Amino acid sequence: MASSKKTAPSKDDPKPVSASASSDELNPKTTQYEFLGPMGAFGMVTALPVLVLFFAICCNKTGYPSSLLISDYKTYFDQLFTGDLLKAMWDPMAMLVYLGFVALQALLYVALPGDLYPGTLLRNGERLKYRMNGFTAYHSTLFIGLYFLKDTGLKPLVFVYDHWIGLAFSSVMFSYVVALFVYIKSFAPGALLALGGNTGNALYDFMIGRELNPRIGDFDIKFFTELRPGIIGWQVLNICFAAKQYLDLGYITNSMVLVQAFQTWYIVDSFWNEEAVLTTMDITTDGFGYMLSFGLYSWLPMNYTLQARYLVDFPRDLSWVEFGAILALNIIGYYIFRSSNSQKNEFRSNPSNPSVKDLKYITTSKGTKLITSSWWGMSRHINYLGDWLMSLSWCLPCGFGSVVPYFYAIYFAVLLLHRERRDDHKCRTKYGKDWEKYCEIVKYRIIPGNESDQKFATT
Ligand code: NDP
Repeated sequence: MASSKKTAPSKDDPKPVSASASSDELNPKTTQYEFLGPMGAFGMVTALPVLVLFFAICCNKTGYPSSLLISDYKTYFDQLFTGDLLKAMWDPMAMLVYLGFVALQALLYVALPGDLYPGTLLRNGERLKYRMNGFTAYHSTLFIGLYFLKDTGLKPLVFVYDHWIGLAFSSVMFSYVVALFVYIKSFAPGALLALGGNTGNALYDFMIGRELNPRIGDFDIKFFTELRPGIIGWQVLNICFAAKQYLDLGYITNSMVLVQAFQTWYIVDSFWNEEAVLTTMDITTDGFGYMLSFGLYSWLPMNYTLQARYLVDFPRDLSWVEFGAILALNIIGYYIFRSSNSQKNEFRSNPSNPSVKDLKYITTSKGTKLITSSWWGMSRHINYLGDWLMSLSWCLPCGFGSVVPYFYAIYFAVLLLHRERRDDHKCRTKYGKDWEKYCEIVKYRIIPGNESDQKFATT
């Protein structure tokens, strides 16, 4: 039976606009662009799907580019535009399987029980409710899979490897369709728009996301997309690659075991803490458009599985020293990531807890406290460092034959550096002189003791 939980309104909650407010008051025009404006939007809408297809088409048993040098990629790009490509991409069976998987997730989302959690207070005074049944959906998907495989063995799972290009293409197409649907839907009367998604430039708004919380009845399209098809899909695809390796070799390499274990841990962790997603920028602030649709329907499942796919094409047995070193790196990364995030959460929600009551801090004029010792005294985003170390440990089992399996760690570094700048801007605007004082005490941005990090921070 679903229950309803309440959260106390925060003083940072937006002031609701009065019920009689005009549409312009409720949905003011966006006057600032992010991601280089319409040009950047054009780049993201066109180039990112090409990158997904590039990895799908060009990386296979015949080879992966070995470096980041453009010359290394010429033969691969030639391959992109050759004969049988359309045939491989237009794969009705793959499309059917992809759509079937998304439909199954939608069914589980509406049918499974779960507690109802309130979201952030919206500008229109509403607080939406979200059903937390992701963990059950995750397990149900795995059990349904097991049930269907009981008579056939692992063989059907090889479909994923054999139809990878078709699946990648289907995911890209589906993400465009969903993005177009929510963009058109955002013009329905009464829609609450994202503050950053109402510029009036169609391409930019389509990309960044115009409507804040597109829903069909109670079905919240953004919340559903955030964890279900992408993250459960990532898990399922990884399992299919492990099965393919097992059928090819008769065993699973220890490098594959590490990749599977690390990523499964991360996936389970995100479902275990599912309600944490309600306070992320994706849910509270960003509109739902192409960026999230493509990111979660296509980019995440297709690119986060690169390591497992690479290990099918190029299986590796690690020495026990390598195995131990990579495992240690992952544990250190996770320890930094989890304990720093938990320390901040505990300090903010329960400051008298013995584990945080002796931390040093400064009190800002807003009344909020900023920790200046322990994890948060080492650098201003020590949690990002832990997260990035984990991402590196996911790639290292693949060895150094190609740069492609390292794509995740490279992309994630760029994402975290950009996110740190966005967060710094947010805190500087919010805390003013207090933030400057804080930065004088905690000098480093992400890596403790990194002088260039510090120099960059003061520019
Ligand atoms: P943080 O958890 O670091 O939160 C930043 C906020 O914390 C600031 O805006 C400020 O908010 C508050 N804050 C900053 N400094 C302090 C301090 N010293 N003491 C107390 N509060 C402070 O950032 P994110 O939300 O970006 O990241 C959360 C986790 O999610 C990270 O571990 C990150 O690595 C991970 N992540 C993972 C991604 C992925 O794709 N896997 C993508 C993005 C993030 P306030 O206004 O409340 O003061």
